[in-house]
Amino acid sequence: MARQRFGLEGPSHTGHDVGHWDGLKAGELRIQRCGACAEWIWVAQPLCPSCHAFDPGWEAVEPDGVVYAWTRTWRAFHPSAEVPYTTVLVELPQAGNKRVLGLYTGADDPVIGSRVRGEFESAPDENSWPLIRWSAV
Ligand SMILES: [Zn+2]
Repeated sequence: MARQRFGLEGPSHTGHDVGHWDGLKAGELRIQRCGACAEWIWVAQPLCPSCHAFDPGWEAVEPDGVVYAWTRTWRAFHPSAEVPYTTVLVELPQAGNKRVLGLYTGADDPVIGSRVRGEFESAPDENSWPLIRWSAV
């Protein structure tokens, strides 16, 4: 299976998710967490959706999760895409069951409900961002 990179990696235009990408640079999977009420927050936001405290912090979690859903893409929606590739929606039990989307590197089809582990891949150059790729445990 191809080792996809789309050139779309990196913080969003809002910058709310910079903490996540800084975490990947440091070899950590960081998920936003409210310092006031301890709610896990994903996708990153400027305030806690539970208690409305501003500027939630970031916490590193083990890149261990469970496959919640997956799909295989057969059509190249981006010029640099090599198809097919497999995307998984990974639920993170130690982060309030928040779900992160990522590329799957296993040779076999992912199995819903099975454990996966993320591996960090360094950025190929200084203008790119690191990635986390998921595979079966
Ligand atoms: Zn909160």
